[in-house]
Amino acid sequence: MELRDLSDHVEYRAGRGIEEVARDLGRDPGEFVKLSSNENPFGPSPAAADAIRDAAADVHRYPKAVHADLTAKIAERWGVTEAQVWLANGGDGALDYLARATLDPGDAVLVPTPGFTYYGMSARFHHGAVNEYDVAPPADDPGDGFALTADRVLSAYDGERVVYLTSPHNPSGARFALEDVQRVADETDENTLVVVDEAYGEFSDAPSAVGLLDDRDDVAVLRTFSKVYGLAGVRLGYALVPDEWADAYARVNTPFAASAVACEAGIAAMDDDDHVERTVETVEWSRQYLREELDAPTYESHANFVLARVGDASAVAEAAQREGVIVRDCSSFGLPACVRVTCGTREETERAVDVLNEVLAE
Ligand SMILES: *Cc1c(COP(=O)(O)O)cnc(C)c1O
Repeated sequence: MELRDLSDHVEYRAGRGIEEVARDLGRDPGEFVKLSSNENPFGPSPAAADAIRDAAADVHRYPKAVHADLTAKIAERWGVTEAQVWLANGGDGALDYLARATLDPGDAVLVPTPGFTYYGMSARFHHGAVNEYDVAPPADDPGDGFALTADRVLSAYDGERVVYLTSPHNPSGARFALEDVQRVADETDENTLVVVDEAYGEFSDAPSAVGLLDDRDDVAVLRTFSKVYGLAGVRLGYALVPDEWADAYARVNTPFAASAVACEAGIAAMDDDDHVERTVETVEWSRQYLREELDAPTYESHANFVLARVGDASAVAEAAQREGVIVRDCSSFGLPACVRVTCGTREETERAVDVLNEVLAE
């Protein structure tokens, strides 16, 4: 038998892990610091780690009550109804549910380029076509920064069914002004859904787009526990959707969309304000340090990483890796001159800057 035609489908390429890199180079994993996947350098909240251990004894049960408890907690946090919270296996899982609920075969979506690969992957799984809007700075004046503006989106918009806005944006760290999000929603068709991906929302001091859900039925917001909460490994995220079609969740979700372990961890993480605060404060420090101390032009960031223009990104990333610092070569994003450096602890950030500056001086 043959699979369906997957030739248009692209692979998701995650940042490389420490174990993988250490094994390749025949070195000890302890020598490396990984600043390539925008993870929390402090790990999960200790309370979340305890909750995961405590959940172990009950994992023979399907997660019904705990799913409801986490949903209620998230609904309360955002001032929405429980039906508007679509829990999922990571933010990526929530993107799939939105695609399942909106796309008919042949419908198109509009995604940013450079941008997060999974939007397009998810649309293709659901037999959608993928169009792009360009947010890159002009090649002749790269210092100008990335353009996360309604103008860029609307000038490419051609009636697509779903438009994805990443704010703050990966990999640049730039963000949309809330008025621009609103303008995109206003000026696109009634039947176009605007998905605002706020995976890095906690690191930005701008207001969330969740407020728009109060009086619109064409905006959904994506959030995740993978970044500020340090729970990337348990896979937990959610979409907040308009009240009008919230019921569709029951018809599109994979049963028990988030595991019991993930839900328990999520509840505990949401209660640990100290861990979130410490993480955000450290990111703010690290972001500024990277921007001031790196001997390369950097872009303003509202997320937990900084994009730096280093010349030959693949050579720089490889040389830094040999010195024990793993950063993200952004060639696969279509930015062969840039590396993305995740904000680490103070110690990790200082080491990353030392190593990158040494590499850049060569
Ligand atoms: C990390 C990330 C997500 C969500 O990742 P999950 O681990 O699946 O929750 C979504 N969008 C962007 C832009 C991201 O960087």
